[in-house]
Amino acid sequence: MKKTLVFLVLIFIYQASFSQTDVTENEIKAHILFLASEQNAGRYPGTKANRDVVNYIIKDFKVHGLLPLEKNYQQKFKARLRVAQGEPEKSLAKTCNVAAFLEGNDPILKHEYIILGAHYDHLGMGGPSSKFDKKNTIHYGADDNASGIATLLEIAEKVAANKKRLKRSVIFIAFGAEEQGLLGSQYFVDNPLVPLSQIKLMINMDMIGRLNEANHVYMNGAGTFPGGVEFMQQLGDSLRLTPIVHAGSVGGSDHVSFFKKDISVLGIHTGAHPQYHRPEDTVDLINISGQKQVSDYIYKALMTFTATEYKMAFIPQE
Ligand SMILES: [Zn+2]
Repeated sequence: MKKTLVFLVLIFIYQASFSQTDVTENEIKAHILFLASEQNAGRYPGTKANRDVVNYIIKDFKVHGLLPLEKNYQQKFKARLRVAQGEPEKSLAKTCNVAAFLEGNDPILKHEYIILGAHYDHLGMGGPSSKFDKKNTIHYGADDNASGIATLLEIAEKVAANKKRLKRSVIFIAFGAEEQGLLGSQYFVDNPLVPLSQIKLMINMDMIGRLNEANHVYMNGAGTFPGGVEFMQQLGDSLRLTPIVHAGSVGGSDHVSFFKKDISVLGIHTGAHPQYHRPEDTVDLINISGQKQVSDYIYKALMTFTATEYKMAFIPQE
């Protein structure tokens, strides 16, 4: 009787620990609620809120056993902030990228890196990139891009729990100052923490929280690596998603900085909406179960590229 009880307790502990490392709707929601909170006021570069978000990301990476690429998880840089035409320039804002990694286990392939990235900054109280005409209103950026960071953290946690399976190494990057002109990713490729030639693919997530009823997931750049278009299409179909896959059309977010350095990229999003760059981009409009589905899709793709010998090579695109 006692033995049975011990056995049942062990099973329970095993299952509890397993479900925790999985991507869950609750965790996705909790991350977005924090990132897109009143307190974090739109995550504008150089503000305390921006630093609080950085600390939140670092803490999460640490808890799940991801290592910094150098001494520190932060790659600091100074951002020139956008101002409206005719307005005086602002002083440079101190901000950073947050980068962490998991080492692969294959003696040769571990020197190759796959990057999963998302930007964590947003528009703060508005500014020249806002589509809203009243000044000084919090732009929460729940979809843009609290959604991407939530999935970045959830996938990092799950990959860490499966790190024994990795052949290639994986780098997770939360980019700063994307909304100011892809500044964080530009700084990273100009000051790379690993040789650029060893980065075999950069997957970027920007606005992945608004999966529509037709389950459309949009991708660009899938033709920049061998078999990318077919692979992303078939994997999506098998997960009851409807991928809209473009071989080229690389644009819109941080993966562009990598593509310009002849690195294979994949930019993923769930589509534009009327709340884009407006204060109404809030948590209540996020399709949490849809985002979980998209996260599982990206996780499976990432594991195929890192835990197998999937052939990687840069293929130029228009
Ligand atoms: Zn964005």
